[in-house]
Amino acid sequence: MDYYELLGVARDASASEIKSAYRKLALKYHPDRNKEEGASEKFAQISEAYAVLSDDDKRAHYDRFGSGPSAGGFPGGDPFGGMGGMGGMGGAGFDPMDLFEQLFGGMAGGMGARRGPPRGEDIETEARITLHQARAGEDVQVTVARLTDCEHCGGSKTEPGGKPPITCPTCQGRGAVRGQARTIFGVVETQQVCPDCRGEGKKIVEPCTVCHGRGHTLKDEEVTVKLPKGIDEGYRIRVSGKGHQGPGGNGDLYVHIELEPHEYLKREDEHLIYTAPIGYAHAVLGHEIEVPTLDGTQRVEVKPGTQHGDLYRIKGAGMPRLQGSGNGDLVVQYDIVVPRPGQLTPEARTALEAYAAAVGDDVPHKSGEGFFGRIGKLFGRD
Ligand SMILES: [Zn+2]
Ligand SMILES: [Zn+2]
Repeated sequence: MDYYELLGVARDASASEIKSAYRKLALKYHPDRNKEEGASEKFAQISEAYAVLSDDDKRAHYDRFGSGPSAGGFPGGDPFGGMGGMGGMGGAGFDPMDLFEQLFGGMAGGMGARRGPPRGEDIETEARITLHQARAGEDVQVTVARLTDCEHCGGSKTEPGGKPPITCPTCQGRGAVRGQARTIFGVVETQQVCPDCRGEGKKIVEPCTVCHGRGHTLKDEEVTVKLPKGIDEGYRIRVSGKGHQGPGGNGDLYVHIELEPHEYLKREDEHLIYTAPIGYAHAVLGHEIEVPTLDGTQRVEVKPGTQHGDLYRIKGAGMPRLQGSGNGDLVVQYDIVVPRPGQLTPEARTALEAYAAAVGDDVPHKSGEGFFGRIGKLFGRD
């Protein structure tokens, strides 16, 4: 989900354009005005988008990394746990209603004041995927234990056939109790959630024997997670509504992505690195090697005089770019392997001794060009 798309603004939109786009959408989707299904979810999403895009730092971070990388953005896990499931980068304590009230001030009146019953808690889990799955953007399945309606009592909390619940005697079914508070304006009446029924207005007489009157049980559920092409380790995907069930709706499921290491290929963002071991003689004389790719193998020529650490790039054989289009490359890094003692046959030793005698052992000093210098050269050669 793209924040700019959500608000319907261009990527280079000004702060006032973003604000005015959010105002329009927030008024349209505010849960108190719009009773259509999905409106409150949409309201939360556009508020989340606005919270990020209206903050210069968060916007810059989002432009670079998207809303995914919890590893980079939020060390120490999910800062939104137990907060009604707002994902993304709203910041600790982020609540779309607060944002709405902030922006509209007195005009909103009581609109945002009613919070309603709480949503279910979010669930966090991991999915371990292969490079192939990350490249294809495949759907993956995760199994999560979700709190859902108890099957025995259907969520009613009362044992089937048992005595029905009674009206709470403490609050007479109102769910709230009145109290009085002394303030500088005099004595004012306050309302508090009924401590006896916790706001439900009813008391269970014969609790369900399976869920013990809670109305829900933990049940394993298989959830399909859609992955964007090129997804990388450290990102997390939000699956809306697949958290725990709650009286005010479901929480969300957050899936942290882990990459299974590939046998030969190492990932660096959108590029794949293959370290190709080649023998000294082949490096000197030139050769041809098989390079493992994600689709099989590809033959690559080793040029005569190849040096240890030299790079060769197979364009487009890397991973899809998460931001932007196209693929990264597969970079072959040559690793010249020198035989260890005992690995040389007598013939090879004789031949090498003849070679040494022929060229002597003078190796000129090299100027210090590091790995990044070589990378720069490689990619400057488009
Ligand atoms: Zn039950
Ligand atoms: Zn009560």
